Amino acid sequence: MKIIQKNIKNLNTFGIDLEVKEFISLTDESDFSKLSELNKQILLLGGGSNILFTEAPKECVVHIETKGKSIVKQDDSFVYIEVASGENWHEFVLWCIDQNYGGLENLSLIPGNVGTAPIQNIGAYGVEVKDCIISVSGYGLETGKPFKLKNKECDFGYRNSIFKNELKGKTIISSVVFKLTKKAHQINTSYGVIKAKLSSSTPSIRDVSNAVITIRKEKLPDPNIIGNAGSFFKNPIIPNSLFRVLKERHPELPSYPSDDGVKIPAGWLIDKCGLKGYELGGASVHKKQALVLINKSGKATGNDILSLAKYVQKTVRDNYEIELEMEVNIYPQSFR
Ligand SMILES: Cc1cc2nc3c(=O)[nH]c(=O)nc-3n(C[C@H](O)[C@H](O)[C@H](O)COP(=O)(O)OP(=O)(O)OC[C@H]3O[C@@H](n4cnc5c(N)ncnc54)[C@H](O)[C@@H]3O)c2cc1C
Repeated sequence: MKIIQKNIKNLNTFGIDLEVKEFISLTDESDFSKLSELNKQILLLGGGSNILFTEAPKECVVHIETKGKSIVKQDDSFVYIEVASGENWHEFVLWCIDQNYGGLENLSLIPGNVGTAPIQNIGAYGVEVKDCIISVSGYGLETGKPFKLKNKECDFGYRNSIFKNELKGKTIISSVVFKLTKKAHQINTSYGVIKAKLSSSTPSIRDVSNAVITIRKEKLPDPNIIGNAGSFFKNPIIPNSLFRVLKERHPELPSYPSDDGVKIPAGWLIDKCGLKGYELGGASVHKKQALVLINKSGKATGNDILSLAKYVQKTVRDNYEIELEMEVNIYPQSFR
């Protein structure tokens, strides 16, 4: 493992311009267990699409670039595939569609690595990645010891898992095993926007993937053109009692049922506070999609974007008494 100095502007989707003193490209599976021998503080980096750097990392940045897919077992109906952590998520989804393996099509065009997908249990258009995960494997960062967690042991929740809680900063994910359908695919068009894009009433997994790709391209800014990390905030889940009070004050307040209370679309709250297009420093709330904060000038600092995020949180709190939680990992705050 060679340690080099590197600029990581192209390795974080906000496009924050930073020089890292110690950087390792981890390309070899056998290096996962050796990280502990470096005796260094480590910061793991995948596709850099869910992280906002407000300063240059002092840790040794380990960029996960391992590749490989292998079929663990299969029968007439299902295939079990183990995928290396450094595989690109969207390329893996497209590969599955080419093989006619179903389950991940609604998660097309989400940036990032396969190995990072379980951490916040990525989700979109009615599907969460946990629905297709059998197990997650990796190593203890300090111990170098291998582990394998079954789906149930990962404590998956809405944009949440054990890797954001008990195991936060303690493990490195090296591979994920998925269970996908080979026939009788469970096509999920529960989101009206997907249905509206489909011409057939019996769509294939490729039709669904293409519809999702089209919708996402229309709705979300391309991070290769405008720096962003997708949804900056989680959709808040509020207690039923607070919901009843707010609904009286704001009868138009949209909501969705949730196991722990009522889910409110964060984008709607931000939009209603009049913040679409709001600018601070070189950062801005996206004009079309209020949930997305962008590096508008291309020269925004991480602190510009963080200050904007805090301003959005305060404005929503003042107007709706709702606390928005950031979905994006903020460096260094989220790592200590
Ligand atoms: C345009 C856009 C759209 C998006 N849309 C969605 C969406 O629809 N749904 C959704 O859920 N998310 C979405 N996201 C967020 C993001 O794509 C996902 O969270 C993705 O899984 C992040 O992967 P990454 O490899 O880029 O993670 P990174 O940003 O590189 O890392 C995220 C965190 O994981 C840690 N980490 C990285 N690799 C490992 C590893 N191997 N083991 C342990 N820890 C590790 C990092 O230290 C960091 O804390 C979107 C982002 C963008 C830019």
